[in-house]
Amino acid sequence: ASGYSLLRDPHHNKGLAFSEKERDAHYLRGLLPPTVVSQELQVKKMMHSLRQYQVPLQRYMAMMDLQEMNERLFYRLLIENVEELLPVVYTPTVGEACQKYGSIFKRPQGLYISLKEKGRILEVLKNWPQRNIQVIVVTDGERILGLGDLGCQGMGIPVGKLALYAALGGLRPSACLPITIDVGTNNEKLLKDEFYIGLRQKRATGQEYAELLHEFMGAVKQNYGEKVLIQFEDFANHNAFDLLARYSTTHLVFNDDIQGTASVVLAGLVAALKLVGGTLAEHTFLFLGAGEAGTGIAELIALEMSKQTKIPLEETRKKIWLVDSKGLIVSSRKESLQHFKKPWAHEHEPIKELLDAVKAIKPTVLIGSSGAGKTFTKEVVEAMASFNEKPLILALSNPTSQSECTAEEAYTWSKGRAIFASGSPFDPVEYNGKVFTPGQSNNAYIFPGLGLGLIISGAIRVHDDMLLAASEALAGQVTQDNLDKGLIYPPFSNIRKISAQIAADVAAKAYELGLATRFPRPENLVKYAESCMYTPSYRGYW
Ligand code: NAP
Ligand code: MN
Repeated sequence: ASGYSLLRDPHHNKGLAFSEKERDAHYLRGLLPPTVVSQELQVKKMMHSLRQYQVPLQRYMAMMDLQEMNERLFYRLLIENVEELLPVVYTPTVGEACQKYGSIFKRPQGLYISLKEKGRILEVLKNWPQRNIQVIVVTDGERILGLGDLGCQGMGIPVGKLALYAALGGLRPSACLPITIDVGTNNEKLLKDEFYIGLRQKRATGQEYAELLHEFMGAVKQNYGEKVLIQFEDFANHNAFDLLARYSTTHLVFNDDIQGTASVVLAGLVAALKLVGGTLAEHTFLFLGAGEAGTGIAELIALEMSKQTKIPLEETRKKIWLVDSKGLIVSSRKESLQHFKKPWAHEHEPIKELLDAVKAIKPTVLIGSSGAGKTFTKEVVEAMASFNEKPLILALSNPTSQSECTAEEAYTWSKGRAIFASGSPFDPVEYNGKVFTPGQSNNAYIFPGLGLGLIISGAIRVHDDMLLAASEALAGQVTQDNLDKGLIYPPFSNIRKISAQIAADVAAKAYELGLATRFPRPENLVKYAESCMYTPSYRGYW
């Protein structure tokens, strides 16, 4: 290849870091200014220039440009500055990027499969340049974060999630494939937007939808084999639960919003018990939001309680209450409830408002999974603080604009007594001379390590016990020092070490359950996981 094309190949480009020898060997003489710099200096320079941008979306675009220009530099930057750059390439900024994806779109970063490709999906997969795919993140764009239907512009989510797979979980970037399935959008604003990049039609549903998805799932297995991991992301709940149920017995699939979120929240709860005391089963849970995240988390908590106490699942579920847009989920509503809500319809009089539900149920833990911002009002937080010494409050909804409350509100309204974590990051808060550091309860802690564990063991199915193993592994990484600051999650700066631990425990579970296919089983799974992880330092080309 010519030097010119080498500089334009993101997988090989090193920019000014090409050595003198490489410049000679690869026809780069004259194509670069004379100086030769280290990757460290490039990182320093990029961080310097990123920080010049005041607008988060500009930082996002600069990062995406870098990813397409020099992949190794992009990943090194992300890995070494994870706390600072996560909010740029992931929530909250990725939400804004998806909303404006049509206008900022430059080059495709993943595969687009629309209704137009029906009958030809296998061909489309073969157009992707990389053959050895290990992880696919796929969305249909119908429920992007808490921002609703963004249609084809949901692509920002699989792209962002897979960047985290590589940076936080150490998967090879070339083994990661972002896919958006475009069946139309019901977002009127986008349908009218001249810059919209997707199909200009209402969403296909029913059989038409199911057939496209079925062809897709079949084509993926045919093209990449049985061990490719498919992560469903940001599907609306009327499809998400069905897709998961339909394909979990034939494919290596998991739904991050249902299962990944459940695993990360359970980990935070387990860690938080060291601060608030008691066992899981001694607590009472109330959710605002009874969709994928809410019911997924509720089910994993009930499962863990049941394992710990040997009390049947039907009983442990009774410690968990959910509120949806119509109020508290109670037995008198059972007939009209979607199937995933039915297990949570306990005996109680109907209650419309969250505040009244809080007062009636008196939960020790309040979890926001509604996608509706500012719903944990002052009254709600004060009520939680009135009957709990240390109310545990998780505002999971993303992006920041949809957070049920801010960190500052949680700490101030509870007079500094709340243990708080949120889906999107908040800065530390000073209250009454004390600094409170909110944790980030986000599935980004789980899916990279979970995925790595599945892949290194050659797992063929995802099992709930793997989610529990991932939870435990994450909770085990929370130190006393973290807890002293009010943090129920370890900082993201250690995430690769955490991911290796999660991967090892997930892999161990896969072997134990007979779901692993890679033999012999490595003796030390943590070391093995670490040794498999992608590192973004430059390689020499001679
Ligand atoms: P979903 O399946 O659409 O569920 C949303 C639920 O919230 C539904 O039960 C809905 O009620 C309820 N709801 C909506 N507005 C409400 C309101 N004003 N008052 C009461 N209930 C309301 O969505 P999801 O997948 O669970 O995601 C929900 C949110 O969680 C999103 O913002 C997403 O970003 C966030 N999330 C965070 C993480 C994380 O890692 N932190 C992971 C996944 C999701 P109906 O059923 O009556 O419509
Ligand atoms: Mn999601």
